Amino acid sequence: MREAEICTWLGDKKGAISFTVDDGWPGCREEMARAGFRGTYYWFGPAWRTTTQWLKVLVEEGHEIGAHSTTHLCLPSPHNETPQAFWKDRPEEGAVEAYRRDEIDPNVSVIEQETGEPVLSMAWPCGCTDPSRMKAAEPYFLGVRGYYDEVANLRWIDDVNTATPHAFLNLNASVRFDPSFVHRAAAEGKWAIITTHESTGAEGIDYIGDHLDELWAAPVGEVLKYIKVRDAARILGFRRRSGSISFTIRHDLPVFARSTLNGRALLPVVYDNPVTIKVYLRDDERVSRVTAGVTARIDKEDGDTGYGPGGGQTAGRATDIPFRAGAGYITFETPAKPARRIRVVTQSPDNRVR
Ligand SMILES: [Zn+2]
Repeated sequence: MREAEICTWLGDKKGAISFTVDDGWPGCREEMARAGFRGTYYWFGPAWRTTTQWLKVLVEEGHEIGAHSTTHLCLPSPHNETPQAFWKDRPEEGAVEAYRRDEIDPNVSVIEQETGEPVLSMAWPCGCTDPSRMKAAEPYFLGVRGYYDEVANLRWIDDVNTATPHAFLNLNASVRFDPSFVHRAAAEGKWAIITTHESTGAEGIDYIGDHLDELWAAPVGEVLKYIKVRDAARILGFRRRSGSISFTIRHDLPVFARSTLNGRALLPVVYDNPVTIKVYLRDDERVSRVTAGVTARIDKEDGDTGYGPGGGQTAGRATDIPFRAGAGYITFETPAKPARRIRVVTQSPDNRVR
């Protein structure tokens, strides 16, 4: 039987969705608060007519502030008919450095100074990018959102993302709200990203709010962190006994340290975010509690490791964590760094008779 796995999306939801607001327009806040989720605001600047006053306020409300370049230059790729043609150009070192210096460093530096949070994602201005710009973005971001319109003309971008996106540096998104993206994310287990500008407004927020039972709605950066940890984490030393199920979850992702082109440190990205674990139960197993303890012990893949008294190598005390019971399984959330030793306390009718 299946034993334990990391769920594709937080909360064991069927799909994920991110609502994004471009260009330094601080709208949609009340609508998202009413609908019960948070979004991503892509801010460009520092430049004429862009203000920074609301960046901190939005972060305190749980939204993400993403990068959107310094000057909002919308320069289409010369080869944009297909993904294959797009890659006819190779990154050009001078263009990579210029884009970092002029379009990323000033933008990211101001956002981090104002918010105190690392900038996790970017959106391409007008959806326009090319291999040089993507290479420039790589040392900074977990992902960069594109979108298809007549300026960039990257048609294949107008799609949902697979559970692990094909191109983190040019993520698929819709140019405005499209309900089919909501349905495809849930039906296909994928990640939809909705792009909004002041001209399209809060359209779709209520609709997304009505689908939160099946969709995880979260800022782009949070979804990217989840994907990175989900794909890197492993469940080790699984052991099922009468009265308990135990295993270790861990990952080896290093801290994502970033710096500007001239070497000034930006805020580091730490992958200590929780993921959702699903543990399958036998018919006669009932779960009474779940505990997690930070462990210094590195379990071998096939290791048979103890926990707590007798295990002897756990650093820190195990604490109870909340869990949800499903049909034949339980789910719960835990970070995987530092490594956690999980213990699921079970009881079966047989145990009680004895
Ligand atoms: Zn824009």
